[in-house]
Amino acid sequence: MAAIWSRVRTTKFGNIDMRVAAGIFVAVALCAPTLAWSQTAAPQAAPAPQAAPAAATQPPQPARAACNNPNALGVGRTVEIDTTGGPGFGFEHFKELDFLKDHEVVLTFDDGPWTENTPAILKALADQCTTGIFFEIGKHATYYPEIAKQVYAAGHTIGTHTWSHADLTSKKLNDDQRKEEIEKGISAVKWALGGISPSAFFRAPDLRHPPEMVTYLGTRNIAIFSCDLDSFDFKARNAKQVEDVIFKKLTKQGKGIILMHDFHKHTAEALPAILARLKAEGYKVVAMRSKAPVQSLPQYDEAILKDAKLPTLSQRPVSSVVTDVTQ
Ligand SMILES: [Zn+2]
Repeated sequence: MAAIWSRVRTTKFGNIDMRVAAGIFVAVALCAPTLAWSQTAAPQAAPAPQAAPAAATQPPQPARAACNNPNALGVGRTVEIDTTGGPGFGFEHFKELDFLKDHEVVLTFDDGPWTENTPAILKALADQCTTGIFFEIGKHATYYPEIAKQVYAAGHTIGTHTWSHADLTSKKLNDDQRKEEIEKGISAVKWALGGISPSAFFRAPDLRHPPEMVTYLGTRNIAIFSCDLDSFDFKARNAKQVEDVIFKKLTKQGKGIILMHDFHKHTAEALPAILARLKAEGYKVVAMRSKAPVQSLPQYDEAILKDAKLPTLSQRPVSSVVTDVTQ
């Protein structure tokens, strides 16, 4: 379906500077002067979005395993996102793209990969033949690259969540350091996946994205995620509380992008019950994919190897490394 997405920024002169990127899958173009970041946007015109880069030559992601549970929650539909110009998702900050229908949810998990809890989340999703987006922290991906690979191999979408979970609005950081947090997060997750680029999806720590970084992500053709519904699972005292908060909000809102953390034990414990209840109450899970993977920047690919003192294992296939010379 032909469609448009608009980014609206207010200048200090009260003019409206509108950037329109073609190709998003829903047709919504609304002026939203109340967007949090629009109030403080820099007055100069935003740089024109660059054309979306061609998909990197990497093997297609493995499909989710065949479903053996006839009563599973499953996946209602899959949407592909053209991230040209950096569309924003999640009504807490970005209200242009209202693509979910009533009783549709997107499951998102932040701050992994992490030992025990991420594998427990993967099992719960597999048991219900369903999926989510994992916004991984770069450093955590370098600690547990095997778990990052498991998330990818199970067919889930992987986005990024900075290098070290730094607050991008902190006055201690300048804009170059903020960009470095974003870029090293991407490079680290790519390293953890053995050179496979993650999706062009980004979520800022604590949903704090200064306007300059929203603009920057747009120039990098990376979609930015807020959420519709925060589980506040990091505050929960037990698994039941995670479930209760989600369903209280979901009952009211009827749909939404749900923010959870695969980093947290209570979330891992709660997920089987949450998924079963989503099924019982007639909700459908929507899978989100980015049309093209994110393109990491070479200087940050090198920087993370140095910073994390990571081994530089060759990514070449075995046939190009090992050759039989005698039978
Ligand atoms: Zn986080």
